[in-house]
Amino acid sequence: MSDNGFFDRFGGKYVAEVLRRPLDELEVAFKKAMADPVFLDEFRTIQRDYIGRETPLYFAPTATRILGGAKIYIKLEGLANTGAHKINNAIGQCLLAKYMGKKRIIAETGAGQHGLATAAACAKLGLDCTVYMGEVDVRRQQPNVASMEMYGAKVHAVTSGSRTLKDAVNEAMRDWAANPDTTHYVLGSALGPAPFPDIVREFQSVIGREVEAQCAERGIKPTALIACCGGGSNSIGFFAPFIDKKEPRLIAVEAGGIGPGVGENASRMTGNASREGIMQGYKSRFLLDEDGQALPTRSISAGLDYCGIGPQLAALGMSGRVEFTSALDSEALDALKFFARNEGILFAMESSHAGAEAIKLAPKLSKDDVIIVNMSGRGDKDVFITSPVFRRKEWLEFLHAEIDRLESDKDVHE
Ligand SMILES: *Cc1c(COP(=O)(O)O)cnc(C)c1O
Repeated sequence: MSDNGFFDRFGGKYVAEVLRRPLDELEVAFKKAMADPVFLDEFRTIQRDYIGRETPLYFAPTATRILGGAKIYIKLEGLANTGAHKINNAIGQCLLAKYMGKKRIIAETGAGQHGLATAAACAKLGLDCTVYMGEVDVRRQQPNVASMEMYGAKVHAVTSGSRTLKDAVNEAMRDWAANPDTTHYVLGSALGPAPFPDIVREFQSVIGREVEAQCAERGIKPTALIACCGGGSNSIGFFAPFIDKKEPRLIAVEAGGIGPGVGENASRMTGNASREGIMQGYKSRFLLDEDGQALPTRSISAGLDYCGIGPQLAALGMSGRVEFTSALDSEALDALKFFARNEGILFAMESSHAGAEAIKLAPKLSKDDVIIVNMSGRGDKDVFITSPVFRRKEWLEFLHAEIDRLESDKDVHE
């Protein structure tokens, strides 16, 4: 837990006065729910029957043999319903909203993965759902917009500022400030003003707790845990039970994009433009210019493409407990192919960054060592990103043929 909302000097609650009350009420309700056996019992049942927990811990024999060093295990978090870890937090917070008597949910989304998980959770729990999404992202991420609408959510295109994730967050905050009594804001990663970093870590720590139990069951002592790191929810949840111990090594992998230049990556801890600052309600490390303005970021994986990082990870990075590194777009693509071909497991583009670090680290360790990689999501969602890279010509032909087919098809269902 944070110390009154702070992790060392990071975190806090830097918000307008109108948001103080809803944040304070949320903190009280969260503490009450986590001590309420009725709440916890319902939560566990939904985790088991709806999300599909526990997710497997898979030994990767071929990858281990080829890399010739540490044994590699993969936590198959991508097998969770809706395809990634984000559903753990979405279900937890939506259940908490119900516990508080709130029937309306709002959420922000960038690429659409958090919006999709929240929309699904609301459908499952019978809650009204509005997702704020930058207009630019709405246009780029139509498959996810379609899924959110299928789950019954309203997708609200945000037209202010750069019309991307940052603006969607501002718009969601504004909505929450105007409707605090009826509405809960489901924040999507382990960041934002307190108490969100504590809440999101707690709901994602089911990943780490399962891994701890699965290791104990099989007598495995991991040397290193590796996770990709956007806002930091899958990594902090995976690391949570191990943070106060000396072992294993905890390694977080940021998006290295196309290189180390400003605007070429999303390396908030290891990058050239990494600075301390306060944005969107919390103090952390961000990619900022000299005037403290957010810099553009770049990554092949939409989920890692953000200028800020959760405050607890920033603190753990500065103290050295969590080691930060990065993987280039090209390294992540190679890792995607490596695990698909050798293990029959398709990593999401985000998770492939963690896979890339495992490929680098395993050969440097001995056969007695164990690496566990968190596959935060599965890669089915990335076909629009990977196909243009791996099969550009065929993909273009396919898209043209699809357009021709749709335009000539008189029997298209309206
Ligand atoms: C959103 C996303 C991430 C990045 O978010 P974190 O909060 O850092 O976990 C990673 N992997 C997948 C599959 C995602 O959808």
